This record gives sequence, structure tokens and C-alpha cells, in this order.
Amino acid sequence: MDQIKIGQFIKECRTQNNLTQMQLAEKLGITDRAVSKWENGRAMPDSAIMLDLCKELKITVNDLLSGEVVTMENYNENSEKIILEMVKEKEKNDKLLLRFEILMGVVCIIIMLALTTVASFVEMEEWLRFLLILIGFAPILIACPFMLKIEQIAGFYECKHCHHKYVPTYSSVFYAMHINRTRYMKCPKCHKRSWQKKVISKD
Ligand SMILES: [Zn+2]
Repeated sequence: MDQIKIGQFIKECRTQNNLTQMQLAEKLGITDRAVSKWENGRAMPDSAIMLDLCKELKITVNDLLSGEVVTMENYNENSEKIILEMVKEKEKNDKLLLRFEILMGVVCIIIMLALTTVASFVEMEEWLRFLLILIGFAPILIACPFMLKIEQIAGFYECKHCHHKYVPTYSSVFYAMHINRTRYMKCPKCHKRSWQKKVISKD
């Protein structure tokens, strides 16, 4: 999505409706700095506020995301473009999430190794040794549910039999045997079990 174009379009619509940045911000219950950020193309309106914003500017969400008034003739083409861009955006975010998950895992393991090494080799009181080991394991225990959530929602799992790509439930990801990111799960379409690979793109 062209953030600059959308920003200019917001500004255009706002002035057409005889609103200052401050007046628009007040109507939406946000700061005028937020409005200014949109108009400069430095930020996108939050999805939670998009409908209200469009109402105030008397445009559709499709217009807003296209950065121009969409006519009936190019409506279909336009929404298709927006959906494609959203898919691309999701793929980009999923890749980032999966990288973040690796980073989180590495940091947790380093903390664990460092603290358990200190606890094993440095002379200290028993209770302190125990405490250090406990603290060493804490990050990975805390991070695990988040990492599993990323495994669940980022990208898709592909069935080996029917090649169906889907987002599994949290519990099926939780209970599945896995080797790295490949998990042994039941396909919701053909109901066969297989080692399913993580893929980013649906097509
Ligand atoms: Zn299948």
C-alpha cells in the first residue's frame, strides 16, 4: 500500500470536509499528531479507527486503502490489488515473526547456558546455586508459549498428501511431534497424518 498517496488523500478529503487536523482528531478521539503522521505518510490509521475515519471523510475503506476515490468500473480490480498487497504484507510479517522466534530461542538458550555454567563452576552457597539455575530456565519457560503461538499463526502448514495449506489450532501445534518447524499433524482436509512443512506463501 502506498502510504504517501494514502496520506495525501486523507489530507485532501479532510480539507474538502472543511476540517482542521485538530477537528478531525477530536472527532476520532485521538491526537492531532496522529493525523499529521498519517498525512505525512509516516503511519497508517489503525484498523480499529479506519471505519470512523472513513465516515468522517465520507469515503469507503476501499477508497482509503487505495488512496483515491474508487469508481464502480475499477472497483473489482482495485479490491483485488488491495487483497494481494495485504497477502504480501502478511507474508513479510510472518517471515519477520519466524526470525524473531529464532532470536528469542537463541537468547533464552544463551541465558540458560550462562547461568547454569556459573551455577555449576563458581563456588557459592547452595541456595544461590539453586536460584541461578531457576532463573536460567525461566526465560525459555516464559518464551515457549509465545514461540508456539508464532509457529501456529505465521505462514501455513502443508499436507504432504493433498497439499492443502492451512493454519492449525494451537493445541494441535502444541501436541504435535516436530523436527525444527516440520510437524507431524493430521490434515483437516484429507484427515491423513503426515510430516507437514511450514510454508510462508499460500500459493
Ligand atoms: Zn491433506
